[in-house]
Amino acid sequence: VVDKSGHSAATKAALDTSHFWMPFTDNKAFKSNPRIFASAEGMHYTSSDGTRILDATAGLWCVNAGHARREIADAVTRQIANLDYAPTFQLGHPLPFELASRLAGIMPDGLDRIFFTNSGSESADTALKMSLAYHRARGDTGRFRFVGRQRGYHGTNFGGTSVGGIGGNRSPFITQLWGVDHLSHTQGNAVRFQRGMQPGNEALADELESLIALHGGETIAAVIVEPVAGSTGVLIPPQGYLQRLRDITSKHGILLIFDEVITGFGRLGAATAAGHFGVTPDILTMAKGLTNGAIPMGAVAARTGIYDTVLDSVQSGIEFFHGYTYSGHPVASAAALATLKIYEDEGLFQRAAALAPVWEDAVHSLHDAPHVADIRNLGLVAGIELAPREGAPGARGTAAFQAAFESGLLIRTTGDIIAMSPPLIISEAQIEEITGKLRAILETLR
Ligand code: PLP
Repeated sequence: VVDKSGHSAATKAALDTSHFWMPFTDNKAFKSNPRIFASAEGMHYTSSDGTRILDATAGLWCVNAGHARREIADAVTRQIANLDYAPTFQLGHPLPFELASRLAGIMPDGLDRIFFTNSGSESADTALKMSLAYHRARGDTGRFRFVGRQRGYHGTNFGGTSVGGIGGNRSPFITQLWGVDHLSHTQGNAVRFQRGMQPGNEALADELESLIALHGGETIAAVIVEPVAGSTGVLIPPQGYLQRLRDITSKHGILLIFDEVITGFGRLGAATAAGHFGVTPDILTMAKGLTNGAIPMGAVAARTGIYDTVLDSVQSGIEFFHGYTYSGHPVASAAALATLKIYEDEGLFQRAAALAPVWEDAVHSLHDAPHVADIRNLGLVAGIELAPREGAPGARGTAAFQAAFESGLLIRTTGDIIAMSPPLIISEAQIEEITGKLRAILETLR
């Protein structure tokens, strides 16, 4: 098979898979039966054996404008030829300034100071450090604690792992940030087959008051949550919950961080989940859809007051001892600017909002398919929870993932939960194709 760039895509037999230590992968299982992509375009991947695979996950929640966008490829190519790399420590080039202005324009009001990173994990850790820097700059040095949430995912660096609520990501590594607590997650068992957000459970946010009573609100620097938790299986917040978190954090001088690495850039039908829910955090993290997944890049938006406070606390010299060699990388910035232009020119956030009810009906049509224990959705996201096999949790999810791949459909599974988040360019016919394929898979699945 020869891919679009003219490289011959190694066939399974020819590929030496031994040296790549693959991330979040069952390396032994994968290498005994590799699934290799050769190319991608629009809504589809093509595998190394030439099979077209409908992408129901936008890669890893990131290819929101669809694959292999010419505009992004052209912008990247031009930028590498013109200015391949330039540092942003005490130096600059126009693109990250331009990109920061563009991003400030689509962030919730007041979140208009943008720090660049290379990933969602770096964005999470940057947001945590930013909140510590802010409190210290105000002379409020007693705030060192963070509050995250069970089943939260904030990437894999030490800060994000610590505030994250996934045991399997934390326990192997022993060392965690000190002084971190977790709220309960928001997925109750009472409501099944929930369409969108449901009322009645916002009091879960009051657990934060309990933690404040326990530790003293004056010791807590920030609370970090995903507005909709994605990685652990699509957990939709109860109506009013995020606003309640906002009210409690504001009352106690605690910063609220929304991790919008998944929810940003149209996933819920708006530029940000904050905009969708009408709840404004103090700090908002991004990555993934920022460059349509084409070049690694992340960003953190902070309230103007946070930036001003940190800057004003130092008479001269570096104000925030933090940054990355590739913060505001020219090629990543060019990719992001081209991506934002596509989102705007094609009205993709609005398109996602318009498709959301169609998506909701389609995914919920699977409620009577075999093994389906729960379905939940919001925007262009859906989680389909399968009943676990007796004594083998996760096995049915893995089997569903493999069967889907073999039938030309890319889904993502977390344990026994199928998570889907298609590119925002998906057509109604492709939505039907996804649910049709899923039903057929579930009907033959053990
Ligand atoms: N935060 C959230 C909410 C995510 O979903 C992810 C990745 O899925 C991350 C952070 C980590 O992003 P990255 O893998 O780019 O480091």
